[in-house]
Amino acid sequence: MIKDKYEKYIFPSLAEARRRIQKETEHIRYQLPDHLRGIGKDRKYFIKTYGCQGNLADSEKMAGLLEAMDFRPAEEEGAADVIILNTCAVRENAENRIFGELGRIKHLKTENPDLLIVLCGCMPQEEVVVARVLEKYPHVDIVFGTHNLYRLGEYIYDAYFSKEKVVRVYSMEGKIVEGVPVRRAHAQKAWVNIMYGCDEFCSYCIVPYTRGKERSRDYRDIIAEVRDLAEKGYQEVTLLGQNVNAYGKDFPDASYTFADLLSDLRQIAIPRIRFVTAHPRDLDLRTIEVMATRGNIMPHIHLPVQSGSDRILKKMNRKYTRETYLELISQLRSHIPDIAITTDIIVGFPGETEEDFAQTLDLVRKADFEGAFTFIYSPRSGTPASKYVDDLPAVVKKQRLQELNKLVNEGYLKGNKRFEGKTVKVLVDGPSDKGAGMLAGYSEHDKLVNFPGDKSLIGKIIYVKIEKAYTWHLRGIIA
Ligand code: SF4
Repeated sequence: MIKDKYEKYIFPSLAEARRRIQKETEHIRYQLPDHLRGIGKDRKYFIKTYGCQGNLADSEKMAGLLEAMDFRPAEEEGAADVIILNTCAVRENAENRIFGELGRIKHLKTENPDLLIVLCGCMPQEEVVVARVLEKYPHVDIVFGTHNLYRLGEYIYDAYFSKEKVVRVYSMEGKIVEGVPVRRAHAQKAWVNIMYGCDEFCSYCIVPYTRGKERSRDYRDIIAEVRDLAEKGYQEVTLLGQNVNAYGKDFPDASYTFADLLSDLRQIAIPRIRFVTAHPRDLDLRTIEVMATRGNIMPHIHLPVQSGSDRILKKMNRKYTRETYLELISQLRSHIPDIAITTDIIVGFPGETEEDFAQTLDLVRKADFEGAFTFIYSPRSGTPASKYVDDLPAVVKKQRLQELNKLVNEGYLKGNKRFEGKTVKVLVDGPSDKGAGMLAGYSEHDKLVNFPGDKSLIGKIIYVKIEKAYTWHLRGIIA
């Protein structure tokens, strides 16, 4: 057993990570230990982030921790003294890319023997990954997972002073740690975690194993964070959770829900509030009603459906039917008539027949999505679906994806067309890739808008008259 060979390290176990213990989550406040201060003086860090918004938010915390230790950001990896790969385990090809990356940066270690290479995030939560890293990538100095990010400083300290490899991957979720320093990547938009982990166990998904059980932050901490962001001039917050609609379900009395949180945050003078990801099983009428009161809650929802076939939804363990999903869409539209709805869809799930796929296409037409992330099913070792017989030829899966994308793209265009001739509010992100003198930003409905304008507008919310809609963006002029 490889674990026995490396017994001095803390190894993960996916089997253990599946267990759910009904103990209350401990909440603690982070304080940077004194011995870590100054370690980063004259040293630089470089973080490469893969995967979802949760990882982007984690990387901002790691950057905050490093800067509290006096590290400074490096412009490029070759100039860094610490390189961190914050990884994603959702798809196998993403994992392969990250292994490729680990091989590619090996030479930097020869050029700078003091360089620390860190692998963290979701991938190390899989024991096969840690074993492969130890056997094939000896130049990796630090490996840790998703539950102990706040201890990054200690691991760097240990690696520098003990000159030994540090491998600390815990299978069970840890505490909720408040007060970890954050270096936000964007000056106007902020991620705000409201909860961690996932208890849904969709049969194809590795996240409940890599991120642990659902743990909600105390709503007073979330409100304080959003208030602080508003005072600092942030224009937009995006509330993050694998299933934000399950927020508060793990509280001992479960009396404060996501709808309550949205309603409380709505009172704060921050111009825009968004959230990802919603789950059709837990999205309730109260949440829709709070969204319908508008104010600073943006008229967009990303509501992953994954399949339009009840048979496949059951195999996916999604715990809703196409009928209940479509009912939710109709409730959303009756309460918020102009809402933009986007989704995620997997094609080629094991056992998906032509009829199942036809049901998906039919649901896409009925739901009138204005966008979708579409994927071919990718088996993840350790999940129930990875044991299902998957005999659909790759070429058929590709054809289905193409057919689906054609329909989805029509939805993108139709969703954009409805804004032609209208004036929309745009939060200006920065220069556009559409040419010199062009700016880009997002409308309230989360549409990408390009328009000519001066850079002094970056960070502001302005009115733009839409002249032309394209599939992937809108083009307009300042109103
Ligand atoms: S809701 Fe399902 S797909 Fe989303 S993170 Fe949880 S298990 Fe994965």
